[in-house]
Amino acid sequence: MVLARGISLLGSRYLNLRSLFGFMRSNQSKKEDVKRIAKERLDTLFLQARKVFHVDQSRAHRYVDLARKIQMKAKIRMPREYKRQYCIHCYSYLVSGVNGSIRVHNSKIVISCFSCKKFTRIPLTLRRRKMVAKKVKVVDGKRKDRPRRR
Ligand SMILES: [Zn+2]
Repeated sequence: MVLARGISLLGSRYLNLRSLFGFMRSNQSKKEDVKRIAKERLDTLFLQARKVFHVDQSRAHRYVDLARKIQMKAKIRMPREYKRQYCIHCYSYLVSGVNGSIRVHNSKIVISCFSCKKFTRIPLTLRRRKMVAKKVKVVDGKRKDRPRRR
């Protein structure tokens, strides 16, 4: 009788097994959730920083600050496209031509910040340099255009 009651209780919709054992979820999946949510927040923060920059620059800098805090807390890497949008010395959001510049010099990407007057040099990797070299073929020091396909 008691057993039968227990079975009926388990089957009932009032006893949700997933919520009952929710605390037993693995740490790994929790960590993955945290990282996924953090990435989403980085996306929104950098999108908002770009939108708000021309209205209020200090708010854009603040969004970079928040994004960095989230990124460090979740222990994820800052995505490459975002890493080049702010100054790594003073963490201000950079817009090339307004408060910073991004140039390629001696096969390095040079990001300069006008507010703290510092540079960041990112060397182009061999793979990316090869990709650039493929576009302009250099033979014996002379530039040779790629043969045209007929
Ligand atoms: Zn700076």
